[in-house]
Amino acid sequence: KEELNIIQGALELRTKTVEDVMTPLSDCYMLSSDAVLDFCTMSDVMQSGFTRIPVYENDRANIVDILFVKDLAFVDPDDCTPLKTITQFYRHPMHCVFSDTKLDVMLEEFKRAGKSHLAVVQRVNSEGEGDPFYEVMGIVTLEDVIEEIIKSE
Ligand code: ATP
Ligand code: ATP
Repeated sequence: KEELNIIQGALELRTKTVEDVMTPLSDCYMLSSDAVLDFCTMSDVMQSGFTRIPVYENDRANIVDILFVKDLAFVDPDDCTPLKTITQFYRHPMHCVFSDTKLDVMLEEFKRAGKSHLAVVQRVNSEGEGDPFYEVMGIVTLEDVIEEIIKSE
């Protein structure tokens, strides 16, 4: 029954983690911080269909900003505005969470007022010989958590 699936999904929020439901970095639609908002880039962004777009510097694992598609409302593609101009104007806060965060905790986090419904997922990588470092693994949105609750088998 549908209701049982939903209850089951809700109960699993306490055991499943952000890593189980995130969109891995390799699948993320992102922009490079040195991108120029010309016609080509802007139509590509529109066609992606995503509302929030991580912006990286040099390396895709180095996410430095989040662009909201609504930030583009006053951007004229003919001006070829540098993406940096827009991200530095809006400066949306970027939220990071650890990959082992449980989904019930994540849901509370998303519900907190003023928080964006997207978070960057990171973990502590201590596998190599050097010092441990934070490693970005992907992104998670409120939708990913909700999906886990209402998914039907
Ligand atoms: P909204 O529904 O608020 O307009 P959206 O459709 O852009 O936003 P969500 O509904 O939050 O995105 O998420 C839908 C799925 O897409 C989720 O699995 C999420 O992880 C994934 N997602 C969101 N943004 C991106 C992105 N920039 N690149 C790749 N996947 C993304
Ligand atoms: P996002 O957070 O993805 O940028 P948003 O802030 O525009 O999107 P939602 O997060 O989907 O909108 O909704 C936030 C709240 O605002 C919800 O309670 C929703 O019902 C309400 N809402 C959304 N759009 C409108 C609107 N045009 N007029 C009035 N209330 C709205």
